[in-house]
Amino acid sequence: MKSISILGSTGSIGKSTVDIISRNPELYDVVALTGNNNVELLAKQAKSLNAKFVATASKDKYNELKSLLSGTNIQVEAGDEAIVEAAKQDAEWTMSSIVGAAGLLPTMAVIERGKTLALANKETLVCAGDIVMSAIKEKGVTLVPVDSEHSAIFQTLENDQRKAVDRILLTASGGPFREKSIEFMKEVTPEQAVAHPNWSMGAKISVDSATMMNKGLEIIEAYHLFGFGADRIEVLVHPQSIVHSAVAYVDGSVLAHMGNPDMRTPIAYALGWPNRIESPTKKLDLTSLSGLTFTHPDENKFPALRVAKEALTLGQTHTIVMNAANEIAVGAFLNRKIGFLDIVKTVEKVLEKSEFPKVNKVQDVVEVDTTARLLTKKILSI
Ligand code: NAD
Ligand code: MG
Repeated sequence: MKSISILGSTGSIGKSTVDIISRNPELYDVVALTGNNNVELLAKQAKSLNAKFVATASKDKYNELKSLLSGTNIQVEAGDEAIVEAAKQDAEWTMSSIVGAAGLLPTMAVIERGKTLALANKETLVCAGDIVMSAIKEKGVTLVPVDSEHSAIFQTLENDQRKAVDRILLTASGGPFREKSIEFMKEVTPEQAVAHPNWSMGAKISVDSATMMNKGLEIIEAYHLFGFGADRIEVLVHPQSIVHSAVAYVDGSVLAHMGNPDMRTPIAYALGWPNRIESPTKKLDLTSLSGLTFTHPDENKFPALRVAKEALTLGQTHTIVMNAANEIAVGAFLNRKIGFLDIVKTVEKVLEKSEFPKVNKVQDVVEVDTTARLLTKKILSI
């Protein structure tokens, strides 16, 4: 039996993880589950998986969660500290799938324990990649990426042949507005932006995919995970979402990872690693494909890619500010306070107006993140 915890079990990645483990409950001993507002689902998951510790980030939801779990002996906690407490519970394998920089402290708490970390929460690496990766090394943590592109690179990167890598080919679907004009994007609604053509995901990452900030965040994520800079990472728009990324070698070989677009594949890979386990993903039938296409993204239409690459070049403080401004701007767009094109414009404005103190420890990251959020809210008058 493998003991496991899921941070963010009520989200899109969390639910897919629960789906996989529920198919073979005898193989997993569920330690901790966490969520935020959806305590009904959290309680349902906790009961059906027989979890030991459950936490909601929302203190207002404590009583509701407690009463939903009355009559069980599941420990119930609430608040940001409770999420970190959940991360500290001893589990061999932990899925980090909270959305945004809110995942940073819980992920650090998982790393402290020195076991296996399945990392979906890319914002953690965007804001604190240097600190996180050195802690992972120091604590001897096994890190398995869950983001589909990074799982693909992890699987096709021959570790003893790193010197023979020519470049990383990071694929992107291009999102719902790939073929739309800037004029069109000016007027799009949150409903249009979250309707991703190939993947079913949480609202924030869906908007990030539509602006292509998601690919910008993923360039930074790949830099921290694999050590290749933005100049060695080629973003390719591949609307079919079948090739999840590839590694090109100096001898002309390109090792690509393919599969139907379903996050249960990279989640199952992370759960089974170093072995492979069954996943309910529909098997890929190559004869059903009518063609695979790859083009370079249009950075005029999708400036987020340029903004993210610049931030990566400038250093960790810039990527923290970029991420924080993006989180607030995406929230404002989803709440209909700003237009779609204002998201990346806001991020650029915040980067222009920010100061960039050096960050050495997690607390420094939290401070820069908090300041950048306040500045973004001020700029947007929200
Ligand atoms: P989601 O919005 O569906 O779920 C987020 C989870 O985090 C929920 O359980 C929610 O309760 C919890 N949460 C939200 N705010 C919180 C807070 N302040 N404190 C503690 N918990 C909080 O998001 P998602 O689509 O599942 O994405 C999760 C992470 O995985 C993101 O970092 C995303 O970039 C990454 N990711 C997602 C996908 C995908 O297909 N959904 C693919 C690759 C990577
Ligand atoms: Mg991805």
